[in-house]
Amino acid sequence: MSTKSTMMDFPLSLPHMLERIGLYFPTVQVVSRMPDKSLHRTNYLEIQQRSKKLASALTNAGIKKGDCVATLMWNHYAHLECYMGVPCTGAVLHTLNLRLSPDDIAYIVNHAEDKILIVDDVLLPLYNQIKDKVSFDKVVVVPLAGEAIPEDCVNYEDFLNTGSADFTYPDIDENDALGMCYTSGTTGRPKGVVYSHRSTVLHSMSEALDSSLAINQHDVVTPVVPMFHANAWGLPYTSVMVGAKLVLPGPHLDAESLMDLYEQEQVTLSAGVPTIWMAIKQALEAEPKRWKTAPNMRMAVGGAAIPESLFRVFDTFDMKIIQAWGMTETGPLASIGLLKNNMMDLSEDEQYQIRVKQGLPLPFVEVRIIDDDGVEQPWDGVEQGEIQIRGPWITGSYHKEGRQPDKFSADGWLRTGDVAIIDPEGFIKLTDRTKDLVKSGGEWISSVDLENAIMDHPDVIEAAVIAVAHPKWDERPLAAIVVKEGVSLSKEDIHDFIRDKFHKTWLPDAVETVTDIPKTSTGKFMKKELRKLYEGWIWE
Ligand code: ADP
Repeated sequence: MSTKSTMMDFPLSLPHMLERIGLYFPTVQVVSRMPDKSLHRTNYLEIQQRSKKLASALTNAGIKKGDCVATLMWNHYAHLECYMGVPCTGAVLHTLNLRLSPDDIAYIVNHAEDKILIVDDVLLPLYNQIKDKVSFDKVVVVPLAGEAIPEDCVNYEDFLNTGSADFTYPDIDENDALGMCYTSGTTGRPKGVVYSHRSTVLHSMSEALDSSLAINQHDVVTPVVPMFHANAWGLPYTSVMVGAKLVLPGPHLDAESLMDLYEQEQVTLSAGVPTIWMAIKQALEAEPKRWKTAPNMRMAVGGAAIPESLFRVFDTFDMKIIQAWGMTETGPLASIGLLKNNMMDLSEDEQYQIRVKQGLPLPFVEVRIIDDDGVEQPWDGVEQGEIQIRGPWITGSYHKEGRQPDKFSADGWLRTGDVAIIDPEGFIKLTDRTKDLVKSGGEWISSVDLENAIMDHPDVIEAAVIAVAHPKWDERPLAAIVVKEGVSLSKEDIHDFIRDKFHKTWLPDAVETVTDIPKTSTGKFMKKELRKLYEGWIWE
C-alpha cells in the first residue's frame, strides 16, 4: 500500500489574508502621509471592508479573472486597498513605476493589456502624458489632494460605492496570477514578472521568519521602497499577514520627512535602497540629536551594494541595517545578511565584513554560481560566477516572452546577471553585475568593491565605478565621485584612501568629481548613462 498524506489541500491565497486582518487585527492602524504632509489614519478593518468593496466594484465593472488592473500610485492606504482588493477578484494587480519615462510606461501598459487604471490625483499630469498612447476601459482617480477629477474619469470613492463589502470571493487557485511588476530596465527593455498567490504567500511567510526580517504583530513597518517597485519588497503583504502596523510615506521620501515619520510613529522596521539611507545618514550627522527613533530600529537595505561605513554609522544611532538581496524576478527577497550563531563571538570588524555580504538564501531558495564556460564554481570564497537561482517565488519565465536562454539556464534556473563568490559558510558576496565588471588585461575588477571602498571616505557622498575602453588593457576603471560641499579630492587622495584594500592594478586610472550621479527610476546608479558620458575618454 502506498501511504497518502491526510493533509487538506488548502490554497495559499490572498482572500485568507484579507479575512484575517478583519478578524484578528481590526484596530491596527494604517497611517499614510498625504501630499500636503498631513497624516491619514485608518485601520485594518476599514482596509478590509474597502478592499472588498473595490473587489466588488471591479467585478461589477466587468473585470474578470486574469485581467490586469494597473495602479499609478505612491505608497498609501488606497494603494494597499488595491494590493488586497484587485487580486481578491481573481484579477492581476499591475503596479506601474511612475519614475519611468512616459514612453516606457505606455509600452508596459500596452504589453500587459491593462484594462482599468487607478491613479493618484497628484499623478494625473503623468497620466496625461501617456493618455494618447494607451486605452483603458476606465480610469479611476484617488482624491488625495482634492485635485479636480477629469470628466472622463471616476472618483475612487464613488467607484468604491458601486461595490459592496459583502463580496463573495471567486474560486482562486493558489497558482493563479496575483500581481505583475516590470523590471525597471536597468539592463534593457522592461520585462514582465507575474507573481502568483502562492508565491506571494510563501514570500510573506519567509519575510516574517525570525531568520529573515522577523516581522511580527509588534512591528511598525515603513516601506520606503515604492509599492510600484517589486511589491515594495513584499512588505505590505507580510505586514497584513502578521497584523503589523503600516506607516506609508506617500510622496515624501526626503531624509527629514522620513526621520520625522520614524520618530512620530516609532517605526521599528523600514526598507529602501542605499541612496535613501545615504541621505538619512547625512541628515543624522548634521543634527545627531534631533530625532529619537524606536529602540533597535531595523532597516532592510538592498537593491544596490552598501558601503561598510553605512552599517557602522547607523549602528551608532541604534538603527540596524540588515542587508537584503533580490530582484523583481525573485519575489523580490532572495537572501539576507544575518550573522550565523557561530559568528557571534567574532570581533566587531569581522562581523562588519560579514554584514556587507548579501548573506544566506532564504529557505527554499537555492543558488549556484556558474562561470563563463558554464562550469559550477566551488563555494570557497574565491572563485566567482554568475548567480543562478531557483525557488517557489523565483520567476520561471517572463510575461509573453517565455524563457530566453540568456535569462534561464537549460535546466530552468534563473540567470540573475549578478556575479558573486560564495564562501564556505554559504554566504553570497556580490562582486558585480555581469555587464558592469571591468575587464582589465584579462582580469576582472569588481566595480562594486571599488565604489564601496571609495564611499567609505568621509568626504565622499557617492561613487560609481565604470569600465572605460583602454587601448592597452582592454578596459580600465574610472570612478565618478560626488564630494561634500567645499571639499576637493584628487585621484591621489582616493588612491591613498583605498590603496591598502586592493592590488595596485585595481586602482581607478581616473577619478572624476561630478555634481550628481545619474540614477535609475529606482534610485540606483545608472551606469549605462555614465558609460555614455565617458565614451571615448582619452587616458593620460
Ligand atoms: P533592476 O534590475 O531594473 O535594477 P531590480 O530592483 O530587480 O531592478 O534590481 C535587482 C538588482 O539589484 C540585482 O540583480 C542586483 O544587481 C541589485 N541588488 C539587489 N540587492 C542588492 C544588494 N543587497 N547588494 C548589491 N546589489 C543588489
